[in-house]
Amino acid sequence: MFSKILIANRGEIALRIQRACREMGIKTIAVHSTADADAMHVRLADQAVCIGPPSARDSYLNVAAILSAATITGAEAIHPGYGFLSENAEFAETVEEHGLAFIGPTAQHIRMMGDKITAKTTMEELGVPLVPGSDGALKNLSEARQVAEQVGYPVLIKAAAGGGGRGMKVAHSADEIEEAWTVARTEARAAFGNDEVYLEKYLNRPRHIELQILGDQYGNVVHFGERDCSLQRRHQKLLEEAGSPVLTDAEREEIGQTVTKALSRMGYRNAGTLEFLYQDGQFSFIEMNTRLQVEHPVTEMVCNVDLVKEQIRVAAGEKLGYTQKDIKMSGHAIECRINAEDPETFLPSPGTINVFHAPGGLGVRMDSAIFAGYRIPPYYDSMIAKLIVHAPTRAEAIARMHRALDECVVDGVKTVIPLHRKILSDPSFQKGDYTIHWLEQFVAAQS
Ligand code: ADP
Repeated sequence: MFSKILIANRGEIALRIQRACREMGIKTIAVHSTADADAMHVRLADQAVCIGPPSARDSYLNVAAILSAATITGAEAIHPGYGFLSENAEFAETVEEHGLAFIGPTAQHIRMMGDKITAKTTMEELGVPLVPGSDGALKNLSEARQVAEQVGYPVLIKAAAGGGGRGMKVAHSADEIEEAWTVARTEARAAFGNDEVYLEKYLNRPRHIELQILGDQYGNVVHFGERDCSLQRRHQKLLEEAGSPVLTDAEREEIGQTVTKALSRMGYRNAGTLEFLYQDGQFSFIEMNTRLQVEHPVTEMVCNVDLVKEQIRVAAGEKLGYTQKDIKMSGHAIECRINAEDPETFLPSPGTINVFHAPGGLGVRMDSAIFAGYRIPPYYDSMIAKLIVHAPTRAEAIARMHRALDECVVDGVKTVIPLHRKILSDPSFQKGDYTIHWLEQFVAAQS
């Protein structure tokens, strides 16, 4: 086992990883920008190294500075968290070239899944069902028209290098295809420096259901069931639950088998998530994330597993040591992402948190790095906390989340807590009756 791990991240996830390390008796190295000098992940680490100025490009994305920090502190492994360098294949490669372990998959698998076209063709070959669409990249507009006619409108033009919901454009009819083609490519070029696009049938009322998987270095792969992440605004998740309110045990078992078989054939190691759209009882793969996800705690709560410890164990070369049969889902978990944003306009609300009180009690978990007196820097993500609850049933989990949100005090900045309260009170949400479009319609109806 490692004795020292460098955590190449900030905020709640840096703290989350530190907690796992501490319980495993592993020393932690925090890295930070000058804007984060007094951050909680820095205060609680065994050692901390400043790696640059506030801008992420010069600090949390600064590979040379991070590697130097690892070398001078004698770290043996690097955990990238999510975002920043977590899905950067070159970074994973460089880390290993420096004789350190990268706590994640191989650079080759990160690269394969980072290109959504390669990801789709790979998964198709491995027997995973896809959304109907173009066979790889679109060469030109006329090919886009042709494929759109074949699969039927509406269609979605998506960037091969896409992420964060950018470089994605819907065409409802042939009249809109040219504009969708142009806008998607322009956005993709601007955001990712790569204007390769592909086309998918635009599903009108799917749910976003994803499977958490974990592999060791010996070809053993298991899944930890699904998360329903359909509640999204601008393709960004806001509230997640495990399990999905609509999936049956038989459906879970079937898709679980398909996925674990595919990833075991791939030789995939460490944690990963396969994202699907689910409609009319059909799963269609859209992409794979080769890292720990923001919403991983809901899976941890229902499966009684510490996914970060598991990541560290398999990265150190340990075998999984259990099989699919040993993994049981119990009860229901919900996560609310608490963003420092105006709950109506969603404009970021950076500033100083004057008063902070974290909710507690049975089945309540708060993953956050904020404290009273903390100044939220304007340079990074607006998510300041994740509130997670676990209860025997979904109805009890909803009641518990209501109660926990009522206890939660974050004073000084605006947060989306009032929006979460409204969602939890809504009869459709309570019935579990929602698709990926539900939240945007709900938000529009509030104003
Ligand atoms: P990103 O990597 O940018 O997050 P994804 O491919 O994961 O892109 O898609 C993000 C979200 O966009 C999905 O969760 C879903 O809500 C929506 N989406 C993606 N593909 C489709 C599709 N073919 N039909 C309908 N909605 C889609």
